[in-house]
Amino acid sequence: MNFRDSEEIAGLMMEKGWELTDSPEEADAAIFNTCSVRKHAEDRAISNVGALAPLKKKRPGLVIGVVGCMAKAHGRKIIDRVPIVDFIAGPANIYDIPAAVDAIMARRKDLVISTDKVSRPYIGNIAYHTSGISALVTIMEGCNNFCSYCIVPYVRGREVGRPADDIIDEIKALADNGYKEVTLLGQNVNSYADKSGVSLNDTSQSGTSPFTRLLGRINGIEGIERVRFLTSHPKDASEALFKAMRDLPKVCEHLHLPLQSGSDKILKSMNRGYTASEYLKKVELLRKYVADCALTTDIIVGYPGESDEDFRMTEKVMREAGFNSAFIFKYSPRPPAKASGFDDDVPKKVKEERNQALLRLRDKMSSALDREFIGGETEVLVEQICRKEKHKVSGRNRQNIKVVFEGGRALIGAIKKVKVSSVVGHTLAGTALLALLAAGLPLMPAAAETIDEYFVSGDYENTVREGVKLVQSYKEKDKLYYMIGTSLNKLGRYDLARKNFNILMDTAPKSRFAPLAQLGIADSYYLSSDYKNARACYEKYLSKYPKSEGGAVAYFRLAKCAQKEGNWQSARNYYQKVKSEYPMSFEAQTASDALRDEILFFTVQVGSFNKKANALRLCDELVKKGYEASIVKSSGDTEESYKVRVGRLGDRDSAEALAKKLRAEGLPTKVLP
Ligand code: SF4
Repeated sequence: MNFRDSEEIAGLMMEKGWELTDSPEEADAAIFNTCSVRKHAEDRAISNVGALAPLKKKRPGLVIGVVGCMAKAHGRKIIDRVPIVDFIAGPANIYDIPAAVDAIMARRKDLVISTDKVSRPYIGNIAYHTSGISALVTIMEGCNNFCSYCIVPYVRGREVGRPADDIIDEIKALADNGYKEVTLLGQNVNSYADKSGVSLNDTSQSGTSPFTRLLGRINGIEGIERVRFLTSHPKDASEALFKAMRDLPKVCEHLHLPLQSGSDKILKSMNRGYTASEYLKKVELLRKYVADCALTTDIIVGYPGESDEDFRMTEKVMREAGFNSAFIFKYSPRPPAKASGFDDDVPKKVKEERNQALLRLRDKMSSALDREFIGGETEVLVEQICRKEKHKVSGRNRQNIKVVFEGGRALIGAIKKVKVSSVVGHTLAGTALLALLAAGLPLMPAAAETIDEYFVSGDYENTVREGVKLVQSYKEKDKLYYMIGTSLNKLGRYDLARKNFNILMDTAPKSRFAPLAQLGIADSYYLSSDYKNARACYEKYLSKYPKSEGGAVAYFRLAKCAQKEGNWQSARNYYQKVKSEYPMSFEAQTASDALRDEILFFTVQVGSFNKKANALRLCDELVKKGYEASIVKSSGDTEESYKVRVGRLGDRDSAEALAKKLRAEGLPTKVLP
């Protein structure tokens, strides 16, 4: 909800002619949207605001605001703690923010405190969303549940539903603008009732609720392909909801159902309104209707009075429920929530141990459930190009799990079937299925020349698909295995690629394609991030085929492996080797660039600017002061930025020392890499 609030605040400011920047140095106003749910989040917010002190000293005209739940909860005390703050505004006062900024800029006021409203006058009418594919849509504000540990009802007020027609109009407009997915937001979406006052218990349209009826209406909106929602309270998530999830094809198979604790004693003290066995029964019912539904949750450890036995019950319920993922929090008192008056009696060390134990359990469970996707197909809504691997795209499947596969910008916004081949962390990796395969159209085996054409034109799917049909009849089997192996590497099917390269090397060790196959095996390890095996295979290649043309590539990749493993001296040596032994190669030029590039050194970033002139100004100032400063241009998906970096240091300690010195001069610092 906070993320959507930030979007709304950005939208409100943009409506008044403001532009967004991610660089504090460039900003005329900095607005911190804060969360009060944990103490840790508040402490982080205060330290982020405080970090702007040097900038505010340099530019007293910079307007600094703290908004959101923390502003409502602490009011003026925030300004006592961080005097550089010019205004504060609670979650229900976000529409006052542009006026507050104006008043301070025009110095009509020195300070604005805007925390009087208990609920928003209207909800979610700002058409600004950070993604062009998937949008957050607020359907209600506030909460009536008063869980003992939670501050939300105090800072966001009581439940107020947004009129259903408004929600539908907003989603239709999103669909017209190309959005494919909406996530409906509310503290407890299952108790949604629109302003007409229709209550949760109104099941006059048998077996439905106002929320499921809303889901039904959204399901009918043309252009919207997927509907998600957050958050569901276990006491209110009903059979009607699970049936709707089963029957409405656009509603995704993912439910976030906060458990909080597996102990009935603790659940009662938390005022959650259900027992552990009632929770598990809900999960069972959900799975009866939506068998492939992913389930995620929130859990608090170290709540007042939580004994070892209570904690063990939480572990037990976690195992029984089978969560795909979970957010685990250490309890901290949040006045004025009821539990803040209880004795916070679980020692910090015990909270930490329980937190770690649940994180380990969660990771084990997630990874086992993620692996169940391997070998199967999953439907992905493509959202973006991968940040690090620009030849790949990422998106989420219907279970809300991230999926990565090879593809380009043209796929963004498309829904693709992906065959999952591996799991990296909590991300599924795979290959998009071809339209023809998806349509199940069998093809006649292609002629040999056609396979060559497929390969040369970069059509790797067809090279493999048709190539394997020709293995018996193809005259140059070694060449065919080479083409299939190389294509499989391109398609991310590394194990299969190695299999084909190994057949080539076993059956035709003297073939002109054998060195390429050895290189292909090394590449398959490199591309799957197995740098240890990649290194061994590139070294084998260099000793077996010392005069081969692929030497430049092998040394270059050895440098990359060393870099990935953090062995920079070795990386520099390999890059030097490429330059000296293969000076005319393509890799030599890239190696020179890499040797010049700060990535082989530690450096301190002191600013990132959208305008080159601003970066130049700071860079000049630093050079005048005797620093070795430079500008690195970086291209994001939508815009370019200019980063000012200082120093090229051989070790992290020296970089940290430099960062400290620069911080003392009021500069924000980030040690890279
Ligand atoms: S349901 Fe409980 S935990 Fe969730 S917002 Fe409401 S009071 Fe807080």
